[in-house]
Amino acid sequence: MAPRSPFVHVLGAGPTGSLTAFALAQKGYQVVLHDPQSAHNLQSRSRAYAITHSSRRLLDGLGLWSPLKPALTGFEALELRDDASSGRVRFSLSDLNSINTDQGTIGWILDHRPLMRLLLQQLHNHANVRLYLGSPPPEAPSDALVVAADGPGSPTRSHWRIPVWQHRYRQGCLTSKVALRGADDATAFELFRPEGPLAVLPLDSGTAQVVWSAPFQSCEQRAGLSGSAFLDQLAAVLPQGLEPDLLLDTPRAFPQQWQLARRFSRGRGVLIGEAAHRCHPVGGQGLNLCWRDVETLMTVADPTLDAEVIARRYGKRRWLDVLAVGIATDLLVRLFSNRLPPLCLLRRITLIMMARMQVLRRISLRAMTDGPMQLLRPLPE
Ligand SMILES: Cc1cc2nc3c(=O)[nH]c(=O)nc-3n(C[C@H](O)[C@H](O)[C@H](O)COP(=O)(O)OP(=O)(O)OC[C@H]3O[C@@H](n4cnc5c(N)ncnc54)[C@H](O)[C@@H]3O)c2cc1C
Repeated sequence: MAPRSPFVHVLGAGPTGSLTAFALAQKGYQVVLHDPQSAHNLQSRSRAYAITHSSRRLLDGLGLWSPLKPALTGFEALELRDDASSGRVRFSLSDLNSINTDQGTIGWILDHRPLMRLLLQQLHNHANVRLYLGSPPPEAPSDALVVAADGPGSPTRSHWRIPVWQHRYRQGCLTSKVALRGADDATAFELFRPEGPLAVLPLDSGTAQVVWSAPFQSCEQRAGLSGSAFLDQLAAVLPQGLEPDLLLDTPRAFPQQWQLARRFSRGRGVLIGEAAHRCHPVGGQGLNLCWRDVETLMTVADPTLDAEVIARRYGKRRWLDVLAVGIATDLLVRLFSNRLPPLCLLRRITLIMMARMQVLRRISLRAMTDGPMQLLRPLPE
């Protein structure tokens, strides 16, 4: 008798769960993907993601990069500015590792909708995948690997009694899409302001997503402003030369937290994506970190192995990267969101050194775009 294909149940069809389902189906697993939301609702989030080279490599390996290309906006420069110390650093293509330079961009901005449209379409057409979107899934076979990708509030994580460690930031964050005058589509900005970082991520034809961190109450109050009052407030904080012309969606305020599950696996189950960890959006690391979980699960998922062995190996392998990114983003927020004179001086010196020394720009860009664990290893071709 031919051996039966192994089963995987993926709970949660956000960007992490959907990519996991596709990656494991490609490896020959029989995948059930469930989400309480319908396919339509799963695609309707108004958000854009900063995509790094680590994500590009993963998507490319899965054959998803080419079909996504029309929806990607590449940026050739990333400008960091610190308001309080007037420090400034510009990362350009020459600061990238040589393996990444042939792409011609430091990173990309990708809108949630075309991403989810492609993923759900590929899953729908895949012979190894059964979708239960907005409908209950069948019970998982007793030897199936169970992947919980059900987001930061993960009901599965609670069901498995995995505690989380969390720190709530005083800062929240507000996201919005705007049309900008004076925008150059090839530059992304991260502005460090005493109330919190502000990212301006270029989308196509003079539009951008802003991710504006500030005390949560201010975010809520700004989200409730009329369109013109909101644009006036935004105009006051954008880099010189950029002027917001038009609001393209409804600004939304979110609380921010650093959250880490105490373990990433239990029995045959694994936690993946924001069900396992969540960090501050500074630096646009969130989804890229979630997708590195997918990459690790893909690497350890061997259809000939027991689900428990796979889950245990995954749980052990993900810690360092997740912890390093969480600590780095937390330190960045703490160091830059204030006007304390000694810290302003330290920031100014650091930014001057980075502006002058390419080696420092290369190391920090490599950690941001390939992940901190790649600092000590050669990058895959
Ligand atoms: C304001 C903000 C800005 C951000 N900006 C960026 C950025 O620029 N770049 C970046 O990389 N990341 C960014 N992020 C992070 C990014 O949005 C997340 O990393 C990403 O959404 C995580 O995807 P996920 O699939 O793990 O979780 P989610 O997107 O939360 O998906 C979880 C899914 O699980 C489903 N679910 C819930 N309960 C169940 C259940 N019981 N059973 C089955 N399914 C269930 C939900 O319906 C949902 O579809 C940002 C986050 C925020 C809040």
